[in-house]
Amino acid sequence: MFCSKCSSLLMPVDGTMQCPACKTVQGDGKIAERKKKQKEIAVVQDGKTEHLPTVKADCKKCGNTEAYFWMLQTRGADEPETRFFKCTKCEYTWREY
Ligand SMILES: [Zn+2]
Ligand SMILES: [Zn+2]
Repeated sequence: MFCSKCSSLLMPVDGTMQCPACKTVQGDGKIAERKKKQKEIAVVQDGKTEHLPTVKADCKKCGNTEAYFWMLQTRGADEPETRFFKCTKCEYTWREY
């Protein structure tokens, strides 16, 4: 890029192109816009059992042998994950440590 007034080679100064000879600033002087960070939407576990895998587990309530299965880290990272089961038949939910 060259200066529109004196045709000198432009130098980048503070995010703009500036002529070192006549100090003309080229362009609108705007620094490139930073891309907005999109916040990730937290995944909600409740009410989405249809996407969960099913395992063989005995329901204490209705005697069904199949249940949805998911795991949750309930406390610190050192703690073991808690396993949750939800009966595919009566939707009774229980947990296993
Ligand atoms: Zn110039
Ligand atoms: Zn059940």
